[in-house]
Amino acid sequence: MLDLLQFDNRYLRALPADAEQGSRRRQVARACYSRVQPTAVAKPQLVAYSSEVAELIGLDEADCVSARFAEVFTGNALLPGMDPVATCYGGHQFGNWAGQLGDGRAINLGEVRNGRGEHWTLQLKGAGPTPYSRSADGLAVLRSSVREFLCSEAMHYLGVPTTRALSLTLTGEQVIRDMFYDGNPQPEPGAVVCRVARSFTRFGHFEILAARGELDLLQQFTDHTVAADFPRLHPAERTLGADDYVALFAEVCSATAEMIVGWMRVGFVHGVMNTDNMSILGQTIDYGPYGWLDDFDFGWTPNTTDAAGRRYCYGNQPGIAQWNLAQLARALVALIGDSKPLEDLLAGFASQYQARWEAMMADKLGLRAVAEGDADLFARLTDVLQLAETDMTIFFQLLAHVDPQMETDAMVATIRDAYYTPDDLTEDQLAGMGGWLTDYAGRLRHDASTLQQRADTMARANPVYVLRNYLAQLAIDAAEEGDFSKIHELAALLENPYEEQAGKERFSAKRPDWARSRAGCSMLSCSS
Ligand code: AMP
Ligand code: MG
Repeated sequence: MLDLLQFDNRYLRALPADAEQGSRRRQVARACYSRVQPTAVAKPQLVAYSSEVAELIGLDEADCVSARFAEVFTGNALLPGMDPVATCYGGHQFGNWAGQLGDGRAINLGEVRNGRGEHWTLQLKGAGPTPYSRSADGLAVLRSSVREFLCSEAMHYLGVPTTRALSLTLTGEQVIRDMFYDGNPQPEPGAVVCRVARSFTRFGHFEILAARGELDLLQQFTDHTVAADFPRLHPAERTLGADDYVALFAEVCSATAEMIVGWMRVGFVHGVMNTDNMSILGQTIDYGPYGWLDDFDFGWTPNTTDAAGRRYCYGNQPGIAQWNLAQLARALVALIGDSKPLEDLLAGFASQYQARWEAMMADKLGLRAVAEGDADLFARLTDVLQLAETDMTIFFQLLAHVDPQMETDAMVATIRDAYYTPDDLTEDQLAGMGGWLTDYAGRLRHDASTLQQRADTMARANPVYVLRNYLAQLAIDAAEEGDFSKIHELAALLENPYEEQAGKERFSAKRPDWARSRAGCSMLSCSS
């Protein structure tokens, strides 16, 4: 059935191509993409695939385990209708305009149109150089590909908007990487992930066209984005105007707020929120040096490249999202003429985000709705969680067992196991938590929910299992030895993150001490 997939490459039809083909590194003006072939590799081997994503594009299990699947999704063969390209985008990296970036190690194979008429773009990550690879090789290693494969699927099942992953394959070739840029290059197994999304359009796609003053292309690109990615906004029988572009920006603000609230709810830190890593659809994209909070800490970032400034730490994510939206607005303003409506939407982002964050926190606490005074209760909880090392995921699990009729000491005892070193808690730390729990209990007594409703709300908002950094690393260690079973086990577990699964208790346990500072478990560098 692989060869029966229908491709309908709207992006290529609607937008101008670079006149040159191939991977010679270059600046690509007056074009949105460049045709480039994936690089053939020695020995494609399937490591893992997602049955749900396969089903989305119309493939079944037999297709996925076939030799041809591994060939196609490692870049050795093309299916009829595939037309591979790398797209051109720019971006702000760590707050500075970086000029042209582009798909340096991503190649779009084409847009599948499935039986339901939906378009899904297939994209190989790590399939060799493109015009946008600059001084790098266009390749990816097993370590980072396992992380992308597992995490993007985990995010989907957690209910956080994200790109998906169809497959993870080995290339049979070695790739040299200096994991921490410290002069220790090592050969590592090469790998490719096939990512799947409605589109992979980033803020940076708009920014590069605006920065180059290619306003006709900017308009063409934006019109295509509305038609393909926001069909709801597309007027039936007229060309788009300023109001439509403002409506597009409003949608992007809203989707971005939704995504960040999702990250904050589950304790996800993206790690590199550059504008080239922001999807126009508000989906989590580009899983690099991301990480998951073990202990709740607004200042935490897994990205060693960002350790000094902590620009992209957990607590900064909403503010950075707004800053990134401002860069998108600066690009779009050329199409609108007047910056006022965009400024108003940007200003509204903060209150929109705050309202959604409060609604999310109400869910995490099992409240029926946000009431007067709750914002303060929520903010104080984030302070209390940072008084002593407290495991975020476990805390919210245990909080569900707090009964508002309990004495303070009993409530504190109920959540005690969420602390990393409960025996070392000071009087102040205990009093802080006790005081907050007392207020929470008081609030619960005035909430309209029944016990069952509270439990259900909390169970939907608070995962039992997340992709703890060390769990991903253990799966990587085994995979590098040729054992993929831990990847499969984690992928299956994380398909049901909100349900306790028998025999899987070790996956919801606290981070072990050895993982506190091990490379890969809490420290990652930017590109690998
Ligand atoms: P990132 O920080 O991973 O989002 O990447 C920033 C830019 O560097 C993007 O244009 C990527 O395509 C490019 N890039 C990252 N890693 C590689 C690589 N190994 N080969 C080529 N380009 C890369
Ligand atoms: Mg990127």
